[in-house]
Amino acid sequence: MMIKGSCLCGDIHFETGAEPKGASMCHCSQCRKQSGGIWSSAYVADSDLTITGPVSWYAASDLAKRGSCPRCGSYLFWKAHDEDTTSFALGAVDGSTRLKITKHIFVASKGDYYDIADTVPQQD
Ligand SMILES: [Zn+2]
Ligand SMILES: [Zn+2]
Repeated sequence: MMIKGSCLCGDIHFETGAEPKGASMCHCSQCRKQSGGIWSSAYVADSDLTITGPVSWYAASDLAKRGSCPRCGSYLFWKAHDEDTTSFALGAVDGSTRLKITKHIFVASKGDYYDIADTVPQQD
């Protein structure tokens, strides 16, 4: 099954035929700033992910870089410098992801304007 996604303006497209892993919702301050809220993603091996378009990469820390569209601003990708996987935004997927969130991460940094009301495991 192929998963396909794109940014808001359509300049950037991505697709993978692999089974994504680690579907999560990130509440960290960097994702909050970049996405405007919680960032939901899953990851695949770099070799299983095809990206087309002019992704703008921003290294927000020494650990990872974040890929977005320079035209419309969609925050699409997260990639650790020392790992050969890339996370993609579940919200950018067109159609069904057939995935379920498996964890909330960085919940200690979450905004104070919502509660996490599901039973999915939480990690600080
Ligand atoms: Zn765009
Ligand atoms: Zn985050």
